[in-house]
Amino acid sequence: MQPLTQAEAVARAALVQVRSYRVDLDLTGTPDGPRFASTTTVSFTCRTPGAGTFVDVRAVALEDARLNGRGVDVDRARWQGGRLPLHGLEAENTLFVRAVMECTNTGEGLHRFTDTEDGEVYLYAQSFLDDAARVFACFDQPDLKAPLHLTVRAPEAWEVRANGAGTRVAPGRWEFTPTAPLATYVVSLVAGPYQVWSREHDGVPLALLCRRSLAPYLEDQAPEIFELTAACLDHYHALFGIRYPFGKYDQAFVPEFNMGAMENPGLVVFRDELVFRSAVTEAERERRAVVIAHEMAHMWFGDLVTMRWWDDLWLNESFAEYMGTRVTAAATRFTQAWTSFAVGRKNWGYAADQRPSTHPVAPLEVPDSAAALLNFDGISYAKGASALRQLVEWVGDDDFLAGLRAYFATHAFGNATLDDLLAALARASGKDLSGWAEAWLRRPRLDTLRPQARLDDRGTYEAVEIVRAEPVEAPAARPHRVGLGVYDSAPGGGAVTLRRRVLVDLEPAAPGGRTAVPELVGTAAGRLLLVNDGDLTYAKTRFGPGDLERLGEVLPDLADPLARAVVWSAAADLIRDADWPAGEYLALAVRALRTERSVAVLEDVLHFTAGTVVDCYLPARDRRAAREALVDTCRSVIDSVAGPGPGPGQGQGRLLAAARGLISCAQQPEVRLLRDWLDGRSVPAGLVVDPDLRWRLLGRLVVLDAAGEAEIGAELACDPSTRGAEHAARIRATVGHPAAKARAWKTVTEDQVSSVRLVAATALGFWQPGQDDLTAAYVERYVADMPRLAADRSPHAVRQLAGAAFPRYAVAAGTVAAVDQLLGRSDVGPVLARVVVDAADDLRRALAARELHQASHPGGWPDPPPAGPSATDPGPPGPGPAGAEPVSG
Ligand SMILES: [Zn+2]
Repeated sequence: MQPLTQAEAVARAALVQVRSYRVDLDLTGTPDGPRFASTTTVSFTCRTPGAGTFVDVRAVALEDARLNGRGVDVDRARWQGGRLPLHGLEAENTLFVRAVMECTNTGEGLHRFTDTEDGEVYLYAQSFLDDAARVFACFDQPDLKAPLHLTVRAPEAWEVRANGAGTRVAPGRWEFTPTAPLATYVVSLVAGPYQVWSREHDGVPLALLCRRSLAPYLEDQAPEIFELTAACLDHYHALFGIRYPFGKYDQAFVPEFNMGAMENPGLVVFRDELVFRSAVTEAERERRAVVIAHEMAHMWFGDLVTMRWWDDLWLNESFAEYMGTRVTAAATRFTQAWTSFAVGRKNWGYAADQRPSTHPVAPLEVPDSAAALLNFDGISYAKGASALRQLVEWVGDDDFLAGLRAYFATHAFGNATLDDLLAALARASGKDLSGWAEAWLRRPRLDTLRPQARLDDRGTYEAVEIVRAEPVEAPAARPHRVGLGVYDSAPGGGAVTLRRRVLVDLEPAAPGGRTAVPELVGTAAGRLLLVNDGDLTYAKTRFGPGDLERLGEVLPDLADPLARAVVWSAAADLIRDADWPAGEYLALAVRALRTERSVAVLEDVLHFTAGTVVDCYLPARDRRAAREALVDTCRSVIDSVAGPGPGPGQGQGRLLAAARGLISCAQQPEVRLLRDWLDGRSVPAGLVVDPDLRWRLLGRLVVLDAAGEAEIGAELACDPSTRGAEHAARIRATVGHPAAKARAWKTVTEDQVSSVRLVAATALGFWQPGQDDLTAAYVERYVADMPRLAADRSPHAVRQLAGAAFPRYAVAAGTVAAVDQLLGRSDVGPVLARVVVDAADDLRRALAARELHQASHPGGWPDPPPAGPSATDPGPPGPGPAGAEPVSG
């Protein structure tokens, strides 16, 4: 298919205006096969009668097409690229198209899924980003919005839902009320034996849907989801001053979904992993709440007012990300949502923004729809949301909201651009935002902020300043309003708490980037001087003099979870830049996570430490000791929660996070323990060995060569669900034998029958740290096979498969050279190129991190105890950090 270019979209929108779509889908054959009939009648006007254009239709066969009653040539050669040419348009036009279309297994267009548990078939339509034409003939671009009148024929036992409210007018026959004007990319439906839960809130009919095999779980979780939905709806009504504009609000949980969720008006779809089958932590529940709030924000940002073209994607995603986090924190029980954002999502943005593929939040140009897909990354979401948070600090919340209300009122049911939004905000605030927008939204990359302080001999600040450095690759005059926090220990030790936070305006023109903070002069120096305290801005941050060296003592006692998140984020950035040895970060994690009370912080830092620091940034030499130390840390968390005390509650999440961490770091000495847990022996009190945990245990045992195919098959027999099948596929690919690797690689590169999700699971398992000898040859195979795979498969498939199959643990100069060679080939398309550029950058950073680590720990990690008289010092009493000295024996 030929992607739509912006120039084509502009020309088509100048020529035609769509009055309405009438679409009829016949899904009665889909239980038996992928094909369905799609009939569309489009009414549209043309500003230049006599001119021509094209309609998008991605069909298997075109049976009939008529423009104003005249037949349109449907010879296959005419529309093979997904475009049917239309000639001789009149001022008022009616186009009729009858087509045979095909369901996919890639989550694009009408996805068809067969539940492995009960054999039931489920469909859902994903029109985003340019896949609406896989479902019905349309002018598929965001600024040709039109009402849609849908009718569907489906098997009689099926439930069918769409954007508008539906009525079963006869057995198997559904009619939906015409919608408000919709962009084609948000047109959706779900069809199948879905189970439905209904409720009403404030006059808005609410419903939840999922497939039958997940129904017992959603039955339990529906009250929480309804409660969150209602709370968010009330909050948005209060914030935006314009009621939810699309009638009913269905939320459908669907299988094998590519993204987190999709904001189709009246019918939001979510990946059904968000219906929890096993125990989850409060942080995971919070993430689900944020997704619910995020999608609801889109009802205004994106659905009511839609970007004109994909260059303003950020108008959708940055706002939804910002609002989703803000509303979750303000309107639900998940009051710490900004802490999770700081330690999780925001690091996704920081990492993306420092890669060679970085781009502005609002790029000046997105040439075509294929390029638009590449911008769905940490920049459009997390950086954009952070920039908005900073904007709110600048203009003030009241003016910000007043500007938004005016923007919605002016552009409701239409389209808008960055300039429209800035104009509304400027009018409301009386401020000229053009300089701000240029620096924050039009320029890539980020500033570095560094606190500096000079002390007198009594330990009082003589001078304090924040130094702002612009990125050398892309200088930009970014203003910041940033917090500078001074933290103290309580007398006699104990909690480290905020003594004072000063809000500092960093003016871009400040000489040398230096902004003095006179408020702190003459006050006593703190234990920690934290820049970006409160996490109001978006920047790389560094620590004040001596603070980095003190982190090991200060961080475990730092009382404010958001402050800890900011510290962890800065520490991660330091090792990503090879500015601080990975072993120091590891030592900090081993020490501070023992007492980490925030589940979100514990989960994220454990995940990053085990998955990136240990597996990528440390040489093989130090991995055993590192994992031992992490296992010990996890054990100490488990003991502290599972032991006698106030019992589970908040501790439940820490227990689960630590148990998962222990499993992921387990080595030979822990094989017995993993086996015991799997067999239900010696399980810590409060830990439930449910399907998810069982697959984790088995997966690690297989990696450790302590279990194999027999156990995998047995586990799959116990859990024959789709998720069970994905776990089994991933674990089979981890098996450390040449035949298993060969089989897995063949699946990744050749299997187009299985769903992309299932194949990606195999790809994810393929590379394992410590299997270098077994998989070394596959670096070259990746280089040889991926261009062909990319040519054969859809963008979402390429993104998932090429990403999962990348040799991420083959951290070696040879791997970098091989993938650079791949990038030099002429047959590498943009999606594959983007995946490889980003993953290659991660490899380079890992190489640099290893080099620094090895130079600073020449004798291995942790450093061997010093020789000489000091080694005989008795040291402090107490147990000390057991496990941090694994070689002392
Ligand atoms: Zn979104």
